[in-house]
Amino acid sequence: MSDAIPTIEIPDSLKPVDGRFGSGPSLVRPEAVEALAAAAPTYLGTSHRQEPVKRVVGSLRTGLSELFALPDDYEILLGNGGTTGFWDAAVFGLIDHKSQHLSFGEFSSKFAAAVEGAPHLDAPTVIRTDPGTHPDAVAEAGVDLYAFTHNETSTGVMMPLTRPATEGLVAVDATSGAGGLRFDPTEVDVYYFAPQKALASDGGLWLAACSPAAIERIESVAASDRWIPASLDLKTALDNSRKDQTYNTPALATIFLADHQVCWFNDNGGMEFSAGRCDRSAETIYGWAEASAVATPFVTDPSRRSRTVATIDLAGSIDATTVSAVLRANGILDTDSYRKLGRNQLRVALYPAIDPDDVAALCACLDFVIDRLA
Ligand SMILES: *Cc1c(COP(=O)(O)O)cnc(C)c1O
Repeated sequence: MSDAIPTIEIPDSLKPVDGRFGSGPSLVRPEAVEALAAAAPTYLGTSHRQEPVKRVVGSLRTGLSELFALPDDYEILLGNGGTTGFWDAAVFGLIDHKSQHLSFGEFSSKFAAAVEGAPHLDAPTVIRTDPGTHPDAVAEAGVDLYAFTHNETSTGVMMPLTRPATEGLVAVDATSGAGGLRFDPTEVDVYYFAPQKALASDGGLWLAACSPAAIERIESVAASDRWIPASLDLKTALDNSRKDQTYNTPALATIFLADHQVCWFNDNGGMEFSAGRCDRSAETIYGWAEASAVATPFVTDPSRRSRTVATIDLAGSIDATTVSAVLRANGILDTDSYRKLGRNQLRVALYPAIDPDDVAALCACLDFVIDRLA
């Protein structure tokens, strides 16, 4: 395989300053890593039950509330296990009887599958569409949780968040959207994510902005006779979060880097700043693809084209795997498409930490490589 990669040297003058364009784990800002190194002697390797760590957890919780402009009675919960761990926690502690899922890619289908396997829940309603689009939720009697995905990372489709019904919680997987895409918090009850994507931190943690209705649900399910494993118990997570702690030991570096990023957003204008950077990057790369003779945005409806993860199809004459490999050999990393999608495609993260000027540089590099492969 590797001997088939043509030697193409991209001039340094064209290259982005930072070559990381992966959709997850994604670029962690060097400033955040430096701040972590500076804080390390009194932070890393210290107790997560003591004030220095609890202060950072508290800052992250407050900072996210500010960033999302949450109503005063919403709360930020956190726990271990990343988004996948949160799905299992939701299966045990958030869904009362029956959920409805919008399934339009790898990640949205995984939560639905986790629910389908749960013996204590009714079979969920799963509404599917082909990759590159998203289904719409429909009000359904008996459904007590609607499961959305703000940004389907595997396909580069984003969806607007609006309540489909007056009854039922709206739970949104925002792992690759949180901090990069705008939304109205009153339209959602649980906005959950892991911080290794749009939040430019590392993995292992889940965070969830919860409405009063969601808190009430967590408390009522916990008070029922359902068996819930301790590490997946959302009531335990709620009680610990209120004390700026987690039930068991979290990755302190992950918390620090996430807080650093959220502070950076808030210090520079909040969501308008962070989502604005994504808007600029999206305009650049989709504009490039539309002008290119060999590239096309995969998502046909421009209003559904993700502003945090761009998927770009290439014409059959240019092999996308080769393009990504040539970029990698030049220090430009992780532009490969989502494997299971099986398309001749590039996938490029546009998260707020990624400099919009670097996205423009990437486009110039793509032209350079494509010209030489054609
Ligand atoms: C990456 C991703 C996940 C999985 O996150 P983990 O922290 O690895 O469990 C889930 N949902 C979406 C939308 C993602 O992008």
